[in-house]
Order: sequence, then structure tokens, then C-alpha cells
Amino acid sequence: MRCRICGGKPIIYMPHHRLALCKEDFIRWFENYTQKTIKEFRMFSKEDRILVAVSGGKDSLALWLVLRKLGYEADGFYLHLGIGEYSERSKEKVLNFAHRVGAQVHIVDLKEEAAGIPELKEVSSRETCSLCGLVKRYYFNKVAKDKGYNVVATGHNLDDEASSLLANVINWNMKYLGRKYPVLKEEEGFVRKVKPFCRFTEKETALYSLLMGIDFIEEECPFSEDASSIFFKEILNSIEERSPGTKMRFYLDYLRKVYPIFKKEEKRDLKRCKICGEPSPSEICPVCRLKERSLSLKGS
Ligand SMILES: [Zn+2]
Ligand SMILES: [Zn+2]
Repeated sequence: MRCRICGGKPIIYMPHHRLALCKEDFIRWFENYTQKTIKEFRMFSKEDRILVAVSGGKDSLALWLVLRKLGYEADGFYLHLGIGEYSERSKEKVLNFAHRVGAQVHIVDLKEEAAGIPELKEVSSRETCSLCGLVKRYYFNKVAKDKGYNVVATGHNLDDEASSLLANVINWNMKYLGRKYPVLKEEEGFVRKVKPFCRFTEKETALYSLLMGIDFIEEECPFSEDASSIFFKEILNSIEERSPGTKMRFYLDYLRKVYPIFKKEEKRDLKRCKICGEPSPSEICPVCRLKERSLSLKGS
């Protein structure tokens, strides 16, 4: 096998694209393909102000780097989740990276806002990962608005998207399926949300990060160890092994054929939270309720 562009020694073969590339051509392809995804899904333009939600992991840092290389106005946002050493180490990675690329990064410490994820878990009936997702979505949106960004970009890759799609199909979670798209337009109280890496596999983002010398946090969040997301990723990987290209087809065919149907069903009736003013399904939003409960726990 040879690199399709230059005929040199390939570093990766991507069966779903039937494409083998050498190191230099892979880097170029990866950045061009990101641009292609941004354009095809009409995610944003050079006029938009983009806030990249960075965790310190490979995907979000790579996304930040690529967007800046492509000439977009992209700053970082790090939410300190208060998960012990793991959070400290990931924050270090984010700060070092921001320094390296000369970019601005906004930091919010959840412990100063309310309490860390482990403490909030004590006052919530949600699973830890679902609680964490709720808190992240809330602050990504709120901080973007407060700081004057109109787009929030996250580093979700194809493996993330296809596995959560599978999990939600298995459970016929209609609400979720109607909102599962790599670009969610801005609406009352919400900024636009985009996932420019949604067509890259985890292997591809990992290789790009490695080749670009990105210093990212390799360990998984300690709470994610037996998370169902990992289970569904493994299932998809074994299907992929037997039938290469399935993962990509599963996700892209969903976007093309199924999402438009579910989207029509999806209607949200949101009020404004009485305390913080953010969009909320109830009078007081779930995050403000968590804050109240964690404060009363601290007080007791
Ligand atoms: Zn080449
Ligand atoms: Zn609220």
C-alpha cells in the first residue's frame, strides 16, 4: 500500500475512505476534511466568534488547534469539574496548550459556582456522566453568551457520536434522536452548537494529536470507567471489524435519512429559570436546583 497523494510510505489506512496517507498528507487531509465538514454542515464562518470547549483530552485540543490553523477566531473554555487530581492535571494541559498556541482560555471552577461533580452527585439522582453532561452543557452555553461568543464547538468524534446514537436507538430515546445533529442552530437563549470532528474516528484524531505533538491528558475520567458509552463503543468496534465502514455509514445515514423525520417530532417548550435566566424545562433550572441542594448540604 502507498500514500494516495505522493506514493510514499503510508502512516494510516482508512477503510471507510479507502484512503492510505503518509504523515504529511494525513495532516493536510485532516485539516482540509475539517474545513469540508464545517462547510458542508454550514457550521460557522470567519465572522463567527467560536468558543471551543476543551477538556484537556486529545479531541478538544486538536479541534482548537485545527480551527486556529484554518484561520477561525477560536478561544478556549475549560470547566474545572472538581474531580480531584484528574481535573488538576487536565487543567494544566489546557493552560500549557493555550500558552503554546498563544490563545485565550476562559476558566470556570465548578467548586466556586456550586460544588464539584463528586459533591453534586450526592444531591442528584442522575448517573455521574449524565449529571456531568448536564452541567457542562449549561456552562458552555452560559459562558459563551456572557463572553460574547455565538458558537460553541466541542471535539466529539465519530466514535462518540455513533456510540451515543446506538445507545439512544436501543432505548428509543426520541427526544435525543430529534436533537442529534452536528450543528444545532441558535435559538431563544441558546448559542449555536457544532461538532466539526464528527466524521473523524477516534483513531484519526489520536493520530493527528500525536503527529502535532499535542500534550493531552491520556487517562479517562475516573467516573467513566464503567460508563455505558465505552460499552457501546466496543460493540461498534467489533461490528466495524467484521464489516469495515459500518460505523461511518450508521452515523451518516442517520443524519441523512432518519434525523429529518425525528426532528419534526422534537418540540421543546422551554421557560426561563427564575434564578439564573437560562432556558429551562421548569421554573427553576436543573443546575440551579443542584446548586441549592448542594448549598443546603454544605450548611447542614
Ligand atoms: Zn503522501
Ligand atoms: Zn437556573
